[in-house]
Amino acid sequence: MDKLKFLLKSLLLMIAFFNTNASVAQVYEKNIANYILNIENPYSFLQRIEKIGIKEVGNKALDSAYLWLVKTVEQVGYKPNTQKFLYNKDTLRNIEFIKRGDSDSCIVIGAHYDSKVGPGVNDNGTGNFALYQIAKWVKNLRTKYTIRFIYFSGEEIDYLGSKYYIKNRNKDSVKIKFMLNLDQLGGTLGEDNSGIKCERDESSSKKDISSELTVTLARFFSLYTNLNPKITPAYLSDYLSFRDSGCVITGLYQYSSFPYYHTESDLLIHVDLAALQSIVKGALAFILDVSKAEVPAGVYSLPPSTNDINVYNTGNELMVISNQPFILKIYDYLGHQINQQQVFNSDTKISLIEFKAGVYFAYVCTRQNVICKKFLVKE
Ligand SMILES: [Zn+2]
Repeated sequence: MDKLKFLLKSLLLMIAFFNTNASVAQVYEKNIANYILNIENPYSFLQRIEKIGIKEVGNKALDSAYLWLVKTVEQVGYKPNTQKFLYNKDTLRNIEFIKRGDSDSCIVIGAHYDSKVGPGVNDNGTGNFALYQIAKWVKNLRTKYTIRFIYFSGEEIDYLGSKYYIKNRNKDSVKIKFMLNLDQLGGTLGEDNSGIKCERDESSSKKDISSELTVTLARFFSLYTNLNPKITPAYLSDYLSFRDSGCVITGLYQYSSFPYYHTESDLLIHVDLAALQSIVKGALAFILDVSKAEVPAGVYSLPPSTNDINVYNTGNELMVISNQPFILKIYDYLGHQINQQQVFNSDTKISLIEFKAGVYFAYVCTRQNVICKKFLVKE
């Protein structure tokens, strides 16, 4: 009997020990690892962002982007609020929607949706996609903290939308734990996107808390993705408005630089969609943990890894090997679509004989994954 008591006591001590450790450093949780597999393929979302066009203040595309983003959020079950404000004679609109938690204390997740010169697939369609996916996948989970999602307008004109939001918030009802900024998460296709920049405040009085939070954010990428986190300073985006109003901030930024930034070539063909998908998975894992979400222990069917899709250029033919249906799209170097087809049975071959010499991009999109291969057709 005494022996049994001793064993029981030891067991309880062990449990207490592991619990204490868990509250200090995050540990890998299978439920979270499974749940983030829900993150969808960014292709069609970004294709829409590209199609809407250049979203500058005062133009129609910015209004179209506003309407479309409102619709996507409503379809997921949120009731978005529009916050209107004026810039000269133009009306700008922030879109806010709220995931209520048990506590009013909130996490703000922000991403601007205006663009500059180009359609802004990378800057900031990628951030919009990330925000949308996090919102979609926390929607039906119970969370301790409230999450406020905001699509900001006017970021490209001195952070107008975020400045307006933070200045006009009701301080009694909007109690911000911290703000997570999502701006440019794709990286350049074909470049090294093996990392992710986790950004912290290095100047305000809240810098130590920001730094600690950002280390936590980084840890989620090490735990749940194949991306290597790197801590960098917060720089040129909406979180600076929050920092300047005394909030704790953190942010994410792509690893490779994007040479098409603020040009008309900020297009889908240049964005690394696989890197984006991994970044969104890491960001969702972080939000699930910090909001104290009750993540279901459901059994998720593992989506096939990208390794199950392969593209080979044999010289005369492009061969796609896949174990599931896919859409194949081929673009030339200027972004013109050359070919599109849906393939329901597994493998396919495309003859390259009619193709002019040059560089092409083949996108293979399945329900969960997208891969892109650059290939060369020689004379
Ligand atoms: Zn941006």
